[in-house]
This record gives sequence, structure tokens and C-alpha cells, in this order.
Amino acid sequence: MENKLYLYNSLTRKKEVFEPANPPHVGMYVCGPTVYGDAHLGHARPAITFDIVFRYLKHLGYKVRYVRNITDVGHLENDADAGEDKIAKKARLEQLEPMEVAQYYTNRYHENMDSLNVLRPSIEPHASGHIIEQIEMAKKILENGFAYERNGSLYFDVAKYNEHHNYGVLSGRKLEDMLTTTRELEGQEEKNNTADFALWKKAQPEHIMRWPSPWSDGFPGWHLECSAMGTKYLGDSFDIHGGGMDLLFPHHESEIAQAVAANGKEPVKYWMHNNMITLNGQKMGKSLGNAVSLENFFKGDHKLLDQPYSPMTIRFFILQAHYRSTVDFSNEALQAAEKGMKKLFAAMSRLEKLTPSSKSDLNIREFTDKCYEAMNDDFNTPILISNLFDGVRIINSVYDKKETLTAENLELLKKTFNEFVFDILGLKDEGTSDKNQLLDELMTTILEIRRQARADKDWATSDKIRDELKNIGIVIKDTKEGVEWSIEEG
Ligand code: ZN
Repeated sequence: MENKLYLYNSLTRKKEVFEPANPPHVGMYVCGPTVYGDAHLGHARPAITFDIVFRYLKHLGYKVRYVRNITDVGHLENDADAGEDKIAKKARLEQLEPMEVAQYYTNRYHENMDSLNVLRPSIEPHASGHIIEQIEMAKKILENGFAYERNGSLYFDVAKYNEHHNYGVLSGRKLEDMLTTTRELEGQEEKNNTADFALWKKAQPEHIMRWPSPWSDGFPGWHLECSAMGTKYLGDSFDIHGGGMDLLFPHHESEIAQAVAANGKEPVKYWMHNNMITLNGQKMGKSLGNAVSLENFFKGDHKLLDQPYSPMTIRFFILQAHYRSTVDFSNEALQAAEKGMKKLFAAMSRLEKLTPSSKSDLNIREFTDKCYEAMNDDFNTPILISNLFDGVRIINSVYDKKETLTAENLELLKKTFNEFVFDILGLKDEGTSDKNQLLDELMTTILEIRRQARADKDWATSDKIRDELKNIGIVIKDTKEGVEWSIEEG
């Protein structure tokens, strides 16, 4: 795959070479959260997936304008055009202003994403701040003949659109099939067809969030906000649009239709979708009682969790799967991830202490190239991580003086680790900047003295160190990969 970046395009259903329209600039839009509840694993995955895309494109030298919206209006229950607005409902139940709900959960979302080391986007527009743009886009769609007005609401005419274009270009669905399913949905009598969707909804008297429009006092349809904000900040056509697979239909299919209907051209070159997360093999959902919030994971306060899991454990675990594969969360899998990540960081602190030799037994360039190959193959983070563990073996072998590296090779090894672990995977050593860091360093020093004692066959000193550590509750274990230590429970 050489040095080109390949990515899987959901639109063409194949891997393609990434060629942005105006290099080095890249426009990327990702559907953000609907802010009416705490972020859970389902939010972490797209955020981390596209954080990796953002980070890697920047690493390759692209200037990325990354737009990720906040949905604070227009997302109705059941994702259909009927039912209460999700945020307004929460506001009613908790006796708050809708914008108070939106702000509260936006703040919480930011805190969670910061913990996960997800970089903030370049622009984070709110749907409620772009009502004018949405009305303008709806007007264009109406003028171009792809919408109709009914009782103050405006609907996208899918059948009419499909005469000229393809509603189904992204999802592969056929319009005939969409028209014959779930016919009599409540609140849909106004529509010509069940597949039609709202561009503007007239607000019922009790509906709080409402704005004036040429058609009625009301609010925009859910799909319209992303089309309007994407166009506003990235233009009529831009490079990448991402989101979870659950958004592919009808949300993204409808975004394409709206943009084509309004602007006359396909809005996006590369569509990217991350796969879903299951918990103990089950789909997650509020109704299933297994919607564990990120906060629950960080604190360990949920009946399904054996212990707390740090944000980096969650991040590392998600990155151990390719973004197009499903991920199943379980306590065992998370504990394994936690252990793996510790090993990675332990090796990285050893790496800082390695000393160069006059000759190299190892080819580090090959290792570095493999890391790039993995990322260039559709952001294959699991392969990258497995390559990094090959690097861990190199570090340990040099540390144990079984093999040697020249200064130049050692520098390349450090650079590769730092760039791929910190900049690209966005991991951080959670031990840093507190007591744990000091403890780590202290233990490294003590274990180095013990290693020297053993090398000198000074078993008395070596045993004394082991026994004294045991007295204060620190257990050391000699393994193939070197000495491991842990603090005894209880
Ligand atoms: Zn969207």
C-alpha cells in the first residue's frame, strides 16, 4: 500500500485512495451528540474513531477543518417525524429550560471527551444557532420542486427526488421497499409517502422550542441541520462525512438527498461509518437496562461492572478493534486491555532509558514503515497496536542487553513510539503528573538495583529487595518480558 492513505468509502463500498479536493485542506463533518442525556459507550466510539482520522490526517500534514455539531433541537423521539423533541421532553420532566438541558449535557459531553483525550473539533455548531440557514436550505429545496407544504409543515418529496436522483445511493435501499413498510405510523398522515421526511415541522401549542418561518412557527427536521451546517462551514461539497453506522439510514441518506435537491451536487466524497458497540454480546439501549454511561465506567458504579475502568482503558480497548468491526465490551476484555496498555507504557518508560551502541542488530525503519502501513490501510488501529507490541519486544530485548541499537535507530524508535502512541492513537500515560508517576520511577530505580545485584550474583541483596517490598505490599514477579510489579490487594 506504499505511502498512500486508503479509506473505505461507504458510498462506493470499497477502499479508495484518499485524495482531498483542495490539498492540503481537508473538510470533515461528523454528526455529534443529541444532548439530552449522559454520554455512553455508543458516544465514545464515533468520537474516538473520527478523532483518530482527525489526528492522523493532521499528522500527515493536512490542514483539517473538523466540524462536529451539537444537536440541541429537532431530534424527535424514535428518530421519526413524530413524538416529542428529545431535549424538550427532558426539560419538561426536570422542569428546566430546554437550553439548560442542552448546555448541561454539552458540558458533560465535553468533560467525558476530554477525559478520553478526544480533541475538540475546529468548529462545533449548534443546530439551534443555525435556524436561518436551515430555513434557507428548505426554501431552496421547495423552490427546486423537491418538497411540499402541508398544514404549516414542509416535507421532502422522496418519490419526486427519486425520479431524477437515487434516494438509496448510500444505503443501497430501494424506494419501493421503503414505501411498503410500516405504513400507518402515528403523526405521518400529512405525508404523501411514509419515506418522506420533515424539513420543517409546525409546532404544537405546547411545544417550547419554536422559531418563525415562511410556513409556520415551528422547528427544523432533524436531518436538515447537518446539511445546512455542513454546507455553511465546508461548502457545497467536501471531503469526509462521518458518523455511526446507525446514522447511515435515514439520516445520511437524507442529508445527501437534501444537499442534491438544494445545491444540485453530491455533498460528500468519502462517507465513513464506525460500527456499533455491544455489551456482553447484547445491543445497548436504555430500554434494555444496559446503557452504561462513560461516567459509570470511569467510577465503576454500575452493576454490570466489576471495577472502574479509566478513560484510557476505554480508549485503548476501542482502538484494539478496527472501526468497521463491532466491539463487544465485557469486564474480561477491558481488564485485558488495561493490562496490555500498562505493558505498552512500561516499555515506553524503559525506552527513555536505553543507551545506544555502535552497531544495530535490528531494523527500526522496517518497524516504522509497518506502523504507517497499518494506518494507511483504512486506519487499521488493531494492526498498528500489534506492531507496537513488536516494538515492545524490541525495547525489552535491548533493555535486557540481548540486542543493540545505534543512536540513530534508537532515536527513530523513540520518535515512532511517541508519534504513534501519543499523537496518533491519542493515548496518554495516566500515571503521569501524580504520585503514581513517582511510584513508577521509584520502582524502576529499585528494580534496576535488583537487576544489577542479580547480574553480579549478589542473591542476598536481590532477595532482600524482594522481601522488603513484599513487607510493604508490593509483589514482584520475574516474567519473560522482564520484571513486573503490583500492589497487593486489601
Ligand atoms: Zn448528522
